[in-house]
Amino acid sequence: MSDKIKMHLPIVEMDGDEMTRIIWAKVKELLLHPFLELKTEYYDLGLPERERTGDRITMDAAEAIKQYGVGVKCATITPNEERVTEYNLSEMYKSPNGSIRAILDGTVFRAPITAPGITPYIPTWKRPITIARHAYGDIYKNTESPAVQGTKAELLLTAADGSETRIPIHIFEKSGGIVQGIHNTDSSITSFARACFSYALDTKQDLWFNAKDTISKIYDRRFRDIFEEIFRREYKDSFAETGITYAYTLIDDAIARVIRSEGGFVWACKNYDGDVMSDMVATAFGSLAMMTSVLVSPQGYFEYEAAHGTVQRHYYKYQKGEQTSTNSVATIFAWSGALRKRAQTDALPRLENFAGALESAVLRTIADGVMTGDLYEISTLLNKQKVDTETFLLEVAQRLERFL
Ligand code: NAP
Ligand code: MG
Repeated sequence: MSDKIKMHLPIVEMDGDEMTRIIWAKVKELLLHPFLELKTEYYDLGLPERERTGDRITMDAAEAIKQYGVGVKCATITPNEERVTEYNLSEMYKSPNGSIRAILDGTVFRAPITAPGITPYIPTWKRPITIARHAYGDIYKNTESPAVQGTKAELLLTAADGSETRIPIHIFEKSGGIVQGIHNTDSSITSFARACFSYALDTKQDLWFNAKDTISKIYDRRFRDIFEEIFRREYKDSFAETGITYAYTLIDDAIARVIRSEGGFVWACKNYDGDVMSDMVATAFGSLAMMTSVLVSPQGYFEYEAAHGTVQRHYYKYQKGEQTSTNSVATIFAWSGALRKRAQTDALPRLENFAGALESAVLRTIADGVMTGDLYEISTLLNKQKVDTETFLLEVAQRLERFL
């Protein structure tokens, strides 16, 4: 193609590990470079480069997202003990996603990609449900301890002036047990609330938030109050103009409503609820490999990625020269999401059109019955055929030309 689509500002591109790194290069080669004059600021977050730079590269990438506003990330290995040995690491580096999220103070939104022939397990669900998980505090930053019989457990708060407040928790008279301290901060909850309201506006979907403030009258109640306050002060009018709503309900009531719903809303959850419910929603929509993820900061920076990991098991097969059938859909949608956002911030209609065409080409390929093994197993299409990793991308590329 002679007249390639031009970009203005770059996207921050973060490469990754294993099978998704292989897919990453193929997506660029087959679906992006032939059509776009792709402009990126490239950061290699693959484990060898993180080791070489002592993880500096991850921090640099996060700073670059602050500078350019839009990023796209490949899945990366979060090292554990086996990985330290496998990659001969000098340190057990933290999860890059966690590091980037901390620097951007962001909230993660996960939405399933719905495709023809991949039917949700819940028959009423017609549109995707996006989960927003508050990724700070609660049990994920807890302090806990066993308590032997006879222990008196108290909450002790020491104020800046040294004054102490003691609140009894439990006296372990008849039996020993366990005790746990958790916290959250007004600033983190406020950022979370703003990210949720902004994302709902951006995607023109209703926002639901839920907690258990009938039981947790101070802790969960604070979440509810902050959401309501931010909504009233900053978002009420724009929500009304856009024709979307914000509603708070109790978490158990929310579950019942979600199951009966048609989908098509943003479901904001506290940390643990989001952890659990995102896996439920992903599975109920069909496949983890069809989950997209976007990190949104309160300043309006966006980082797109697939929700799944590096698909290690497939990579080991690939390394042995065996055929793989790894699903690249969520990775492609990470790129289309970032390109669309870049097109909107830079007012580039041809680029925005390309992002839509790329997604349409992927969905058409699946509708035509061409899919990877994970989808083949759950697809209800009669003419379905299982293809390998690269063939799927080649089939998308063929169709993409027709959508442009
Ligand atoms: P995973 O990479 O998500 O894969 C788990 C299993 O799910 C795969 O073995 C495969 O099942 C299936 N699967 C996931 N994505 C698929 C795809 N695109 N196409 C087809 N099947 C897919 O999780 P993991 O194996 O637990 O983790 C591997 C590495 O990824 C770890 O080092 C972890 O730290 C990292 N990770 C990174 C991120 C991230 O960067 N955002 C997120 C999660 C995990 P079958 O084997 O049955 O085919
Ligand atoms: Mg989980």
